[in-house]
Amino acid sequence: MVCECGGGLGVLEARQGWDDFPWADPLSYVCLDCEAERTFFNSHRDGYDNVMGNGATSMQGEKATTVACPTCNEFKLAVTSDLLYNIDADEIDEELDGSGAFGPSDCFDAINVYANCSKCKERFYVGGWELA
Ligand SMILES: [Zn+2]
Ligand SMILES: [Zn+2]
Repeated sequence: MVCECGGGLGVLEARQGWDDFPWADPLSYVCLDCEAERTFFNSHRDGYDNVMGNGATSMQGEKATTVACPTCNEFKLAVTSDLLYNIDADEIDEELDGSGAFGPSDCFDAINVYANCSKCKERFYVGGWELA
């Protein structure tokens, strides 16, 4: 995830999760270069079921927390996400309401978020969400 300013390192803000799922959404990212903040993933806003008006089923966290590297505790991270699609773009065009508010790229089925630590270089898994 690269900021509009070109900066590739930031601080990842999440919510406190649960035992086997340490970080919950919404996820936001603050660029270390320009300090711009944006919520790049919200399981109650994004993905196929939300775009289609089916509602969201996943639990969100309450308590804001800064994601730190599990190995060295550094919080300056490079964040990447993989969006998984299981859709046919033509079908999606028919299902979308035509307002142009959403496109096929908004209709992802799942997202996996990873972070690369700027200090020890460890790549770790932040979390994954199913949205269809
Ligand atoms: Zn920036
Ligand atoms: Zn680290």
